[in-house]
Amino acid sequence: MPSIGQEEIEEVIDSLRKGWLTSGPKVKLFESNFAEFVGVKHAIAVNSCTAALTVALSALGIRSGDEVIVPTLTFCATANVVEHLGATPVLVDVGEDFQIDPAAIERAITSNTRAIIPVHYAGVACDLDCILTIADRAGISVIQDGAHAVGTQYHGSRIGIHGQGTAFSFYPSKNMTTGEGGMLTTNDACFAGKVRSLAKFGIRPKQQSESWDYEVFDAGYKANMMDLQAAIGIAQLKRLESFIARRRQIASLYSAAFSQFGELLLPSGLPGRPHAYHLYTLRIAKHSRIDRNQLLSKLKDAGIGTSVHFVPLHRHPFYRMKYAYSDAQFPVSEKLFAEMLSLPIYPAMSEQDVNTVIEGVRSALV
Ligand SMILES: *Cc1c(COP(=O)(O)O)cnc(C)c1O
Repeated sequence: MPSIGQEEIEEVIDSLRKGWLTSGPKVKLFESNFAEFVGVKHAIAVNSCTAALTVALSALGIRSGDEVIVPTLTFCATANVVEHLGATPVLVDVGEDFQIDPAAIERAITSNTRAIIPVHYAGVACDLDCILTIADRAGISVIQDGAHAVGTQYHGSRIGIHGQGTAFSFYPSKNMTTGEGGMLTTNDACFAGKVRSLAKFGIRPKQQSESWDYEVFDAGYKANMMDLQAAIGIAQLKRLESFIARRRQIASLYSAAFSQFGELLLPSGLPGRPHAYHLYTLRIAKHSRIDRNQLLSKLKDAGIGTSVHFVPLHRHPFYRMKYAYSDAQFPVSEKLFAEMLSLPIYPAMSEQDVNTVIEGVRSALV
C-alpha cells in the first residue's frame, strides 16, 4: 500500500496547471535527483521496470538465438522480457538466501549466453561481486532487476551503479511509487544514449539541424515516463529513506516477536548487504505442526492478507511447456516455495496493524 502525502498531490496539481502531462521538466528533474541519490551518471525514466529491462536488453542487441540467465524465483516480467526479444531465458536455481545462485549461473553459461539478469530479492542485494566476476570472465553483460531494490545498499554503495545497468520499479507496492513507472541506471554514456533512444521510438535528434528534424535508427519502443508520474516520484524520493527506516522498524518488531518460534526462519540482511524489507518473507520449517498453506489460511481467517513471492517461473505453464522444465532441476526454489510466506509490510502500517499480524501468527502457531 503506497504512502501518498500532500507534497505528491501538490506536485501533480502543479503539472496539471502548467500543462506538462507527458515527458517534460519533471521527468528531467526526477532523473537527475534519482541519479544523484543512487550515485550513478545516467538515469532514464520509463513507464515500468518491465520496460526498463526491455530497452536495456534491446540496447545490448539481445535477439533470437541468444540466451539470458534468469533466476526461477522471481516475478514473470524478468523472463517475459527475454521472450519479447525472441531470445531464450535460461532459468537457474536460487540459494538458501533466496538469491540467484552463482554456482548455478556458472553451470548454465553456454557459447550463446549474452547476459545475466540477477534479482535483488525482497530488498537484499544478491551476491553481486561474485556474479560480476563470473560475467566478466565469460564476457557477458549483467542487467540487474532492481524492482525490490530502490534504496538497497551493497557494501556502502547503492544498488544501481554496478554492471551494465539496473532496472527499478515504481509500482505502488514497491519501496517508492509513481503509480506505474520505472528507471534504468547506468554509468555507461553510450549505453545510456541507446536506452534513451530505444525508450522513445528509436528516435535520435539530428545534430545541428532544425528542431523538427530527426532520424529513426531502431524500431524503438514507446516507454517514456510522463511528468504526472515524475511529479509523484520527485516527492516520493525525498521520503524514500524514511520509508525504508519504517520498513526496518516493522521488520524488527516482527522478528523480535517471532524469534521464540523455532519453526520459523526469519529474514535478515547479510554482512555489507542490509535488508530494505520490500518484502518480509519468512519460512515455516517442514517439521512444524502446521505447514505454509495452513498458516496462510489461518492468517486469512484472521483478516490478515499474506502472499507467496513467487510461484517459481519453471512452474508456470508457459515456461514449463516451452522448455520442458521439471521441479527436480530447482531443488532449493522448490523447498523455499513450499515453506515461504510474505507478511504485510508497508510504511503506513500502524502499531496496531503490526500487532494484529504478530498476534495472528502467534495464535496460528500455539
Ligand atoms: C514488480 C516486479 C517487476 C515489474 O515491475 P513493473 O514496474 O510493474 O514493470 C519486475 N521484477 C520483479 C522482481 C518485480 O517484483
